[in-house]
Amino acid sequence: MKVLVVGGGGREHSMVWMFNQSSRVEKVYCAPGNAGIAREAETVHIDVEDIPALVNFARTEGIGLTAVGPELPLTLGIVDAFEEAGLRIFGASKAAAEIEGSKVFTKNLLARYGIPSGSYQVFSEPGPARAHLKQTGAPIVVKADGLAAGKGAIVCQTLKEAEEAIQIIMEERRFGDAGDRVVIEEFLVGEEASFLAFSDGKTVLPMATSQDHKPIFDGDKGPNTGGMGAYSPAPVVTAELFQQTMDEIMIPTVQAMASEGRPYKGVLYAGLMIKDGKARVLEFNARFGDPEAQPLFMRMDGDLVEIMDAVIDERLDEVTLDWHDDASICVVMASGGYPGSYGKGKVITGLDEADAMEDVKVFHAGTAEKDGRIVTSGGRILGVTAKGKDIPEAIDRAYRACDVITWDGAQYRSDIGAKALRLFK
Ligand code: AMP
Repeated sequence: MKVLVVGGGGREHSMVWMFNQSSRVEKVYCAPGNAGIAREAETVHIDVEDIPALVNFARTEGIGLTAVGPELPLTLGIVDAFEEAGLRIFGASKAAAEIEGSKVFTKNLLARYGIPSGSYQVFSEPGPARAHLKQTGAPIVVKADGLAAGKGAIVCQTLKEAEEAIQIIMEERRFGDAGDRVVIEEFLVGEEASFLAFSDGKTVLPMATSQDHKPIFDGDKGPNTGGMGAYSPAPVVTAELFQQTMDEIMIPTVQAMASEGRPYKGVLYAGLMIKDGKARVLEFNARFGDPEAQPLFMRMDGDLVEIMDAVIDERLDEVTLDWHDDASICVVMASGGYPGSYGKGKVITGLDEADAMEDVKVFHAGTAEKDGRIVTSGGRILGVTAKGKDIPEAIDRAYRACDVITWDGAQYRSDIGAKALRLFK
């Protein structure tokens, strides 16, 4: 079978890597891909938003399965367009992807079905939003309703910051139409974890637990990024909490989406806040996390094609999913200056040496090829991923690999996985 992966980041590189291990796959394509993906798949110069061109490519090439990485094409209806064209595709439909595309939709859904999450109010005008903030005080969280590349949730420690958040989102309209409405949400404290599951609209098949690190600097300091690293398993999610999350969050959400006439097929990713042994929902994503996908795939013991087929054909109840007992971590190496402005075109060295290390895989994100050399071309550049018999061994291997990779201005956190170690003690 020929497979097409849509996207061009570290998550998509790890999907390509999984498909190349499937006995059912004869060729992998990736649109648009990156320099690392180009070494393992045929890259296609089509943008993730150009849905008609992707449909056309899949039809003419006889693609048997398309798997979508990022949220934008899902919220634009890529799954609906492929299905209308009679093409097999893995991902959430436009109606189902609303769970990521609109925070107002999701908060209302959670409230209506009694699924645990923080209390909230929705506003479509800055005046009433500001008046409400005066009553709630801070800390408080102000969120743009729509997609904002991971930057639309502003955690405000003071009332002044909250008022500025209203200005940025609703008046300056920094996130465009995504800021037509805001959710003002209770500030939740605790430990965060990512809970990902496959769903075929009826059955929920959970993945192993994981945790990411959003802030740019060690100790979770500095502004949020797309994600600076992740690890699996996440010991904060105990067996009991895992079951609670399935029973009170994942299964009810899939049932709620079905009741709303938006059957949920694809990956359902819950961002959780855990406190006193209870999980509450911070957000939902309609796709694999980036960088959570990279360590999760390193531990997944199975054929991704089989699982995606079972989701598409709505027979996920027939599938089991095994995980290697070991641990894995992904350390993201980013351009100097990220998440602010950064340069491009810096030559990266040490990639082959790192990739040759035991149980290490370097997934590419923002890379390009220039004159036969791999250069930087984005904010997040690489996801250096390793596994080991436990978290300390995985950490050691990933950082040894990071040590041999260099370019001018490279930055990465030195404490990925440290939270897991603290909990082990
Ligand atoms: P979101 O895009 O909604 O996941 O938010 C991004 C990040 O903001 C989360 O990973 C949390 O670190 C933080 N955050 C979001 N909502 C809350 C909340 N209600 N309380 C505390 N922190 C939050």
